[in-house]
Amino acid sequence: MRERCSLCRLVHDTIKQSSASYSSCEAWIVTSPGRNNDVNAKREVKLVVQTNISKSKPLFQLRKQQPQTQATVTEYTLLLDVGDTPETPSASQSEIVLKIPEAFKTLPENQTSKSWTDPDQQWPVIEQWLHECTASHELCRGETADLPELPSRFLEIGAHGAPTRILASGNGARGAYACLSHCWGGKNNCTLNETTKSQFSEQIPPYVLPPVFTDAIAMCKKLGIPRLWIDSLCIQQDSVKDWQQESSKMGQYYANCTVCIAATSSANSSASFQIKARPSGIRSSGTDPQSGPFTLLAYPSHLARPQSHFVQSYEKEKLAAEFPLLSRAWVFQERWLSPRTLHFCSSEVVFECAEGTSCECGGVRGGLLDDGPKLGLSVVRGTTGGADGLAKRRRDLHKMPWSELVSAYSALDLTKLGDRLVAISGLASTMHAERMTSFQEVDEVHKGLSIQYLAGLWSHSLETDLAWFVGATPLSCQAGEQKYEVMASHRTDRKSRPTEYLAPTWSWASILDPVRFLTDNVQGRKPLFELLDAHIPLATDDPFGAVTNGCSIRLRGKILSTSWAMRPGDNSGTPSLVLTEVVGTQQLDKEDASGLVFTPDFAVLSPGPYQIRPQDKLYVFPLATQQVKYLRWVREASATIDASRSTACLVLKAVYGLDEKYGAVYERVGFTEYVNFQGGVRNVDCNKYVAEDFFLV
Ligand SMILES: [Zn+2]
Ligand SMILES: [Zn+2]
Repeated sequence: MRERCSLCRLVHDTIKQSSASYSSCEAWIVTSPGRNNDVNAKREVKLVVQTNISKSKPLFQLRKQQPQTQATVTEYTLLLDVGDTPETPSASQSEIVLKIPEAFKTLPENQTSKSWTDPDQQWPVIEQWLHECTASHELCRGETADLPELPSRFLEIGAHGAPTRILASGNGARGAYACLSHCWGGKNNCTLNETTKSQFSEQIPPYVLPPVFTDAIAMCKKLGIPRLWIDSLCIQQDSVKDWQQESSKMGQYYANCTVCIAATSSANSSASFQIKARPSGIRSSGTDPQSGPFTLLAYPSHLARPQSHFVQSYEKEKLAAEFPLLSRAWVFQERWLSPRTLHFCSSEVVFECAEGTSCECGGVRGGLLDDGPKLGLSVVRGTTGGADGLAKRRRDLHKMPWSELVSAYSALDLTKLGDRLVAISGLASTMHAERMTSFQEVDEVHKGLSIQYLAGLWSHSLETDLAWFVGATPLSCQAGEQKYEVMASHRTDRKSRPTEYLAPTWSWASILDPVRFLTDNVQGRKPLFELLDAHIPLATDDPFGAVTNGCSIRLRGKILSTSWAMRPGDNSGTPSLVLTEVVGTQQLDKEDASGLVFTPDFAVLSPGPYQIRPQDKLYVFPLATQQVKYLRWVREASATIDASRSTACLVLKAVYGLDEKYGAVYERVGFTEYVNFQGGVRNVDCNKYVAEDFFLV
C-alpha cells in the first residue's frame, strides 16, 4: 500500500476487513448523479471493493472503473464528516489522489443509527437498550427484587478460562440466567444424553458446541449473565420422563429469564449469528491542506438500504426465509413469555420488550406497524412501542382472546406433530393462572368459576373456542368501527387429518392447517348448548400438555340432520361442499336455495379412514348466535353494512360402534355459519328440534 491520504487508508482498511485473506484487490468509486438532473438531488457515492484471489499479483489502487472479472464485489457507502468545503479533486482516469472528492459532501443523509456507522458503538447500543429496559421501563421491571428460581439444569458460563459446564440447580436455588431460542437441526451432536451427561457436568468441550451455542455463550459473557438455558443441553434428550417434566416448565423458564437470546435468522444450530459476519463501519481521519481535519467512514451499502423487519413480514415464505426462527411453533410462547428478547437477525440486532421494539437501523422504532392479516401474526408482530406493545398485552394475557393466540400459533411450523399442544402449553398454563387470579379478584361474573383446559380450548369460552375453521370465512365482517375485513382468499384445499392422534376432532390441535375464528367484533354471542362433562386423558402430568386417544366432551344441544353434496364451482371453478337439507336454514331467494356451504376441517374427500362418502349423513350442531355486521358488495365499489344475526355451527359425522348407552357420539368434520340478513332471508329458528345429550370425540 502506498501511503497517500486518509481516503486511501480508509480504502485499504475497508478491503482488509471485507476480505482478510485477499491476495488481490481493486477498488473504485461510483458516483451516481442526482435523479432527473436535479442539481439539488443528493448524489450517491459508493466505494466498490472487488477481491479476486486467483490473481497472484497484489494490487491496491483506487480507480474509477467498472468490474471486469467475476469476483467478490462489496459495495460500501462512504461518509465524509468535514469542516469546510474541500477542493474538487483532480482525479485522473486511473487514480484518485490526495484530495477528497466533492461528491462526498453530498451523500444521502445517514438514516442509520450509531451502531451501524460507528464500529465502536454496536455493543454500547445493545447494552443501552437492556439497561433502559431493566432500569426504567415500568412494564418490564420485575415486581420484586428477588432473583428468579433457576431451571432444573443450566449452563454455567465459564469465565476467565474456567470451563462451561452443565449444572443441576439445588432445590429453590435462585439466580439470573438467559435463555436461548433457536431452530433445531444442522450438524448438532451437542445434546445432553446418557453418554454425554457426566462429561458435560465437568466441561462441554468447546469444539462440540455448534456455532449458535458458541455465539449465545459469547453474548452471555458480554452481558455479564453467568448462566444460560438451552433446551437441547438442559433437557436430557434420551429420557422421555425428563423431557415430559422439563417441557412443562419451559414456559416458566422463559418467563423468568433476564433476557432471551434469539437466533432469529439462523436456520439451524450450524448457522452462526449472522451478525458476527456483518462487516461494520471503517473509520479513518486525516487533514486536508485546504479544508482541514476530516473523518471518513465507510460501511457496507446494503446496510444503508431500508432493512426488512419481521414486524412487516406477514408472508410466511418471506418470514421463513429471512427470519426462520419466527416461523417455528415453539418460538411462539418463548417470545410471548420472555420479558425481553435480543433477536440476532442477518443484518442487525432487534430488541423487543414489553414497552416496545428497537433495532440498530432505527427503522422499527416509531411504529412500522403494517398489520397484515394474512398469517395472523399480528399478535406477536405488532410490537412497536407504546400502549400497543407486546408487553402490555403480555400483562393482560388473561384478557387476551385465546382464539387470537391460537390463530397465530396454528400457522407456525412444527417438526414433531405430537408437539402441537405441548409447544403452547406454557402459554396456556400462564393464561390459566392469570385468568384464575383475575376472576377471583375482580370479575364478579366469573368469580368462583373453575376453568378447565380442554385439549387446546377453555371450558368457560367453549362457544368461541369451538368456532374455529380452516380457510376463509364464507362471509365478510366489520372489524372495528370503520375498517372492514374481507376475507380475500378462498382456499379450499386442506391437509389430511393426521393418522397419529393429536387431539379430539373438536380441537384445532387435531388438524394441521392454520385455523381462524369468527371475528371478535361480533356482539352478544349466546351459546346454544351446555357443557355437561369433559373427559381429557393426559399423556403426561401436565394438564396443559399432550392428550391421548379417548378425549370427549358431553354436550346438551340441538342436532340437525342433513345430507351433503358437491356444488360445482362458479367462475373460479372451485367446487364447494354444501349441506343440502338443513331444516330451518333455507334461503328464501332462489339463487341460494341449493344448500348451505360449509368449510371442511381437513381433506374430507381423500380416501382413508376419515373420508366422507356421498351416502354419509352429516349433522349440524348450532354453537352460538351472535350479532354481526356484514359488508355487502353492491356493484364493485360501494358497500353497505347489514346488521344481522348469525349462527355458528359445527358440521358433524356420527361415529358408530361406540358406547351408545349414554347417547349419540359424533366427530367434527367442518364448520358453517348461517345468517339472517335484515330482509329476513333465512329463518334460523330450529324450534322443532329438542336439545339432546351427545358426545363429541
Ligand atoms: Zn422494556
Ligand atoms: Zn432495523
